[in-house]
Amino acid sequence: MKEVPESKVEAPITANANENPYEIVKSLLKNSVEALGLTEDVYRLLEKPIRVLEVSIPVRMDDGTIKNFTGYRSHHSDILGPAKGGIRFHPEVNIDEVKALSMWMSLKSAILGLPFGGGKGGVIVDPRELSQCELENLSRGYIRAITPIIGPEKDIPAPDVNTNPQIMGWMLDEYDRLRGYNVPGFITGKPIIVGGSQGRVEATGRGVVISIAEAAKKLNIPLESATAAIQGFGNVGSMTAKFLHELGVKIIAITDVKGGIYNENGIDIPSLRQHVAETKSVVDFPGAESFDSDKLFGLPVDFLVPAALENQITEKTAPQIQAKVVAEAANGPTTPEGDRILNEKGIFVIPDILCNSGGVTVSYFEWVQNNMGYYWKEEEVNTKLEEKMIYAFEDVHKMHEEKQVNMREAAYIVGVGRIAEAFQARGWIN
Ligand code: GLU
Repeated sequence: MKEVPESKVEAPITANANENPYEIVKSLLKNSVEALGLTEDVYRLLEKPIRVLEVSIPVRMDDGTIKNFTGYRSHHSDILGPAKGGIRFHPEVNIDEVKALSMWMSLKSAILGLPFGGGKGGVIVDPRELSQCELENLSRGYIRAITPIIGPEKDIPAPDVNTNPQIMGWMLDEYDRLRGYNVPGFITGKPIIVGGSQGRVEATGRGVVISIAEAAKKLNIPLESATAAIQGFGNVGSMTAKFLHELGVKIIAITDVKGGIYNENGIDIPSLRQHVAETKSVVDFPGAESFDSDKLFGLPVDFLVPAALENQITEKTAPQIQAKVVAEAANGPTTPEGDRILNEKGIFVIPDILCNSGGVTVSYFEWVQNNMGYYWKEEEVNTKLEEKMIYAFEDVHKMHEEKQVNMREAAYIVGVGRIAEAFQARGWIN
């Protein structure tokens, strides 16, 4: 039997009370409603998720005892379509984080033009402390607990931090057993053999690199001589590294939860991926020297890619940043104070809700293929992804120029504008 791959554990969240992502996203929403000259009703409709479910998930542990985990699922909006978004397993998961993540999902879908609302789920757990059997039981238990509010036309989950295709496979199986028939479109990011899409595993990183390439065109940065530094080497960080490397970008530093590595001539990404598959960390990679993770943000690179968790670019770290472009592969990596400093320095930010939306875009393709029962070749998926990402980048960039606002504000304006249009079409606002 094939061994079940371990899920990857990424850096811990370093949030503090005044960096509550729910408060951050609400104030960004408020600003964009004002910038669009919309009535405050739009803000009132968007400021809270339409429903949030808290569940307890009892799991029989290997030692015979029961541990009762806490999980959440938030539906921010279903105004453009069923809720859509990943499930995160992390010890620092909390209700406000899950709400904020579901709001970002609404915006991503709106910006990319996908027929989805925003959803997100999370379980408070450190998956490194569970055996494979316990992890499977927790994954199945979470689906049993949230069953009343999910389904292919209600809310479609997917992977997020520390969850992977294998976990989606267990969840699919649990849902199918509860329903009594196959429902492949209930979850995305599944293994290909049970209805997953070609290109989904690579999609978020591929989308990050498509948006970096678009930014490089606007700023006249030649990719062949460009350099990058990446924080995080989970699914998104490693795929971003792979595709940047393929375009000839020199990746000089990478950090993960255990430490950092540096090579001024560029890290050989295929060999590093091999090393990480064997050792579960970038640390001790023979093709690079060891590096203090705290120095990553200060490196004089063209592209800085935070690909871990929230609240990394703050009033403390932003002043060090010398990059020309910050590409937010993670969700919410920049605090408002960090953002203000990046703006002052004139750094071009590709905001998370645009930059990392390749994942949900290919999830959409996966759901479409499941609904049709007809599956596309990888090339077709990748071409469609590229088309959508470039289109969305252009929309946001045009708004950035037209309204003379930064790229984050522009992305919020595009997203909120589309959701507001749907509210109008449905008769909620005039
Ligand atoms: N978790 C990913 C995100 O934050 C993907 C969500 C999805 O595919 O539905 O965008």
